[in-house]
Amino acid sequence: MNPVALITGASRGIGRGIALELAPAGFDLVVNYAGNQAAAEKTSADCLAAARVGGKSIRAEICQADISLSADRAKLIQFTREQFGRLDLLVNNAGVAPNVRADILEAGEESFDRLIAINVKGPYFLTQLAARWMIEQLRTPHSALRNLQSAICNPKIVTVSSISAYTASTNRGDYCVAKAALSMLTPLYAARLAEHGINVYEIRPGIIATDMTGPVKEKYDKLIADGLTPIKRWGQPADIGKAVAAIALDLLPFSTGEVINVDGGFHLRRL
Ligand code: NAP
Repeated sequence: MNPVALITGASRGIGRGIALELAPAGFDLVVNYAGNQAAAEKTSADCLAAARVGGKSIRAEICQADISLSADRAKLIQFTREQFGRLDLLVNNAGVAPNVRADILEAGEESFDRLIAINVKGPYFLTQLAARWMIEQLRTPHSALRNLQSAICNPKIVTVSSISAYTASTNRGDYCVAKAALSMLTPLYAARLAEHGINVYEIRPGIIATDMTGPVKEKYDKLIADGLTPIKRWGQPADIGKAVAAIALDLLPFSTGEVINVDGGFHLRRL
C-alpha cells in the first residue's frame, strides 16, 4: 500500500512539479484542480510515467474542487477517503495572483476578497479537515496505516506560501497580505499537531517559471540577470517538488513549523 498525498492546484505549475517528484517516490496522488481538467489529466498521466521510470507503481486520481468553497473542500477530502482510505501528506499549493496588478491606493475590495478566499481561507480550513482525519487515522489501532511496510508513518502538512509573505509589492498588496496571513497557518498547526506526531512545514518559493509569472517574464528575466537572486536563474517547479519530497520522505523528522526558502537566496540580506 502506497502512502497518499493530496496536492491542491496540481494540474499546472508548482503543484504539478510537486506531483512529478512525489510519483517516483512511490506516493499515490490526488491531483486537485479548479477548472483545467485537461491539464490535470496530463499531470496524472505524466506522474504514472514518472513513477514507472522510478520503478514504482502508483495511482494518480484527479479531483475538481475550488478550495475557496467549503462544500468543495469537503468533497476533496471525501474523494481522497473513497479512493485511497488514507492521507499521509497534504500539500496546500493552490493559489492565485490578482487578475490585474493595481496600486494599493487604487485597488478594489473584490480582488482582495478573492485572494483571501483562495489563498488563505481555503488552505486554512482544508488543513483543519485533513488534520482531523490524520488524527483519526493515527488513533485507529488496527488501521492499515499502522501495519504498513512503508517508511512513512507520520502524516505531514506542507503549505506553499511566497516571498511575498515578507516582500512589499505595492502593485499587488492583496497578494502580499494574503501570503503573509497564510504564513501564520504553519506555526499554528505545527504547535497544535505536534502532540499527534504530525509535522507541519511552509515552503516559501521565490520566482518560479509557471503560468502565474508568464505575464511578467521579461521584467523578472532582467531582474534576475541584474543579480536580484544570488543564484542567477529562474526557479523551476521541480525545485519546489524536491523540497516537498524531502519532507514527504521524512528527512526532517525533528523540525516542525519550519519555513524552507526555495528562492535562489532571494531572502539573503546583502551589503
Ligand atoms: P499557476 O501556474 O497559476 O497554477 C495554479 C494552480 O492552482 C492550478 O493548478 C490551478 O488549477 C489551481 N487553482 C487555482 N485556483 C484554485 C482554486 N480556487 N481551487 C483549487 N485549485 C486552484 O500557479 P503557480 O505559479 O504554480 O503557483 C502555485 C502556488 O505557488 C500558489 O500558491 C502561488 O501563490 C505560489 N507561488 C508561486 C510563485 C511563482 O513564482 N510562480 C512564487 C511564490 C509562490 P487550474 O489548472 O484548474 O486552473
